[in-house]
Amino acid sequence: MKLCFATNNVNKIKEVAQLLGDDFQLLSLNDIGCNEELREDQSTLEGNAQQKAEYVYDHYNINCFADDTGIEVEALNGEPGVFSARYAGPQRSDENNMALLLERLRSSSNRAARFRTVICAFINNQKHFFEGIVEGEIAKEHNGDKGFGYDPIFIPSSYSQTFAQMSLEEKNKISHRSIAVRKLVDFLQTNS
Ligand code: IMP
Repeated sequence: MKLCFATNNVNKIKEVAQLLGDDFQLLSLNDIGCNEELREDQSTLEGNAQQKAEYVYDHYNINCFADDTGIEVEALNGEPGVFSARYAGPQRSDENNMALLLERLRSSSNRAARFRTVICAFINNQKHFFEGIVEGEIAKEHNGDKGFGYDPIFIPSSYSQTFAQMSLEEKNKISHRSIAVRKLVDFLQTNS
């Protein structure tokens, strides 16, 4: 089955291609000729995932899915959550977003956090949602140079390394996105 993942983030494509296996041909936005920036201006992860997947399904008529991920920090009442990508405002970048988060948690002994991914899929005209959560904590400082985003400061529960210190295979065993993608794959395998 041809399936578009509504992203051009090569890290995400690599992670998901590894999980989907050979039964599916995974296409990025570039692969389907979609060069426009997809809007994601909703107030929830679910809303953003749906906004991106629905756009691709409506304009390119292909089975597709989109994800949206947030890092939710307990001591910050779930922030940055849906604002994770834009956390540092106009100066946003992975480095600046992480620096702001570390600064806001500087005096906090509660470092509990979780990554939450929501996938919205449009398959044969039906909409489906899948969620994946990984619990963990925010490190005191950056560690590791693999992965992307907030990976260098996130240590999953019962591990001592950050996601950025793990290989792709290790991260994929436990990550928020892999949990959501496995739910999507199970659904596709039982319904196609
Ligand atoms: P989006 O889902 O690509 O919109 O990502 C929202 C924010 O979460 C961005 O700042 C990403 O860099 C970050 N993010 C998404 N997935 C991951 C991940 O697996 N690890 C670390 N950061 C992530």
